Amino acid sequence: SIEGEVFFEKAYRALYATDGSHYEILPLGVVYPRHGGDIQKVIELCAEERIPLIPRGGGTGLTGGAVGKGLVMDFTRYMNQLLEVDEAKRLARVQPGIILDELNSQLQDYQLHWPIDTATGNRAVIGGQIGNNSSGMSSLQYGLTLHHVEGLKSFLANGESCYFHIQPGSSRGYQVYDLEARVFRIVESLEGEIQRRTPTLLRKVGGYNLHALGPNKMGLAGLIIGSEGTLSILEEAFLRLSPKPLRRDLLVLAFPSLSQALEILPLLLSFHPTGIELLDEVILEKAKASSSFRTYLSFLDSLTPALNQFPKALFIILQDGSSLEEQQEKINSILQGLEQTKSSFSWGSFFEDSAKAQVVGLRKAALPLLLSGRMKAVTGVEDTAVSPEKLCSYIKEFQDLLEKYNTHASFYGHASVGCLHIRPFFELSHMSHR
Ligand SMILES: Cc1cc2nc3c(=O)[nH]c(=O)nc-3n(C[C@H](O)[C@H](O)[C@H](O)COP(=O)(O)OP(=O)(O)OC[C@H]3O[C@@H](n4cnc5c(N)ncnc54)[C@H](O)[C@@H]3O)c2cc1C
Repeated sequence: SIEGEVFFEKAYRALYATDGSHYEILPLGVVYPRHGGDIQKVIELCAEERIPLIPRGGGTGLTGGAVGKGLVMDFTRYMNQLLEVDEAKRLARVQPGIILDELNSQLQDYQLHWPIDTATGNRAVIGGQIGNNSSGMSSLQYGLTLHHVEGLKSFLANGESCYFHIQPGSSRGYQVYDLEARVFRIVESLEGEIQRRTPTLLRKVGGYNLHALGPNKMGLAGLIIGSEGTLSILEEAFLRLSPKPLRRDLLVLAFPSLSQALEILPLLLSFHPTGIELLDEVILEKAKASSSFRTYLSFLDSLTPALNQFPKALFIILQDGSSLEEQQEKINSILQGLEQTKSSFSWGSFFEDSAKAQVVGLRKAALPLLLSGRMKAVTGVEDTAVSPEKLCSYIKEFQDLLEKYNTHASFYGHASVGCLHIRPFFELSHMSHR
């Protein structure tokens, strides 16, 4: 028996049949482990009985990694603690079920932070971020989860507990040395093919991180990060923290069309901001029509008159820095640089907490807004991997395709890294839209 809990009742199973994706699969049951010993026992039993195990965090993943027919292992109930902080080394030891916002709020005392800021920070957890190799709004500056993990205390499918380090040759465990050597040999023998198939973009998180592995690159932790719980079940993660930026200020650019926004994206990137987020007309109009979200739009009051119309696209430019003067200078230099562009736009800079919260609130409301109304914006092309200078032509082509099917879509997300969410509108209750 285990010290945690196991449930097989239908109500529990139904709770875990879905995540942030389209998929709906009723699992066999759910287990809430209390510690590594519980995880190990469940793995051994499931291996004996040939029952698939599905580790799960906040269940916000968009690709169905947290749903399946087997036994779901939910880490958010009991294994959700920050265990240790080494301030000098900027390292944290955490359990996989800790919620990201909770982790960052506990790290405030140390002036450190976990910089992977997915929009789901109030419910997604570290185990899920490691499973997905997540990256957030500021990925231009901070990169992916892969770039911030030191090591993983994790179980193999036979129940063996191992320590997987991000550096090659530093992992520990009975089988690990041989395992790493074997993985490196396979990767080496397929090097040309792996290189040919790996995009050169920053946010490439499809499949295993084979391109990152090798004796002079990353060790086995690099393989486990992004493996969606298919290779190993995580008990603890050792995270490399970043100094908390003293300030994050915002510059918002409002455009009369989506294409005018995307055309100046390469120029904006030359100023090396922390991130550039895109919101399109569909989201802005939905916010305007919503009694609960309309208040988020009041920051546009100062931008709309200069544009002579309600904006059809917004860029929210995030800028991290240390002092107000430095931030104002950076934002001014972006605005000066934009004087050469032919795109028309209006702008507003935001340095006050309440105004910034409004802008960020609107960005975080994008998905709830798209899911409101009769015609739903369905999960379509999530996380495009398109280089930013090609985004404009890519979206034009995509819009032509949608027109052919008499529909339209919302385009929003992390423009700075070519990672957009494209959600077409379909009424799935209607046969002609299926
Ligand atoms: C509105 C919205 C916005 C989003 N924005 C972003 C974004 O900006 N960037 C981004 O990268 N993603 C984004 N996502 C996707 C998702 O929210 C994130 O990737 C998030 O980090 C997943 O965390 P989770 O705790 O919900 O993971 P889950 O969905 O629970 O799990 C994700 C994967 O991790 C595995 N896993 C979980 N725990 C463990 C464990 N202990 N051991 C081994 N494997 C484990 C699961 O099996 C699964 O395969 C977004 C999703 C939504 C709905």
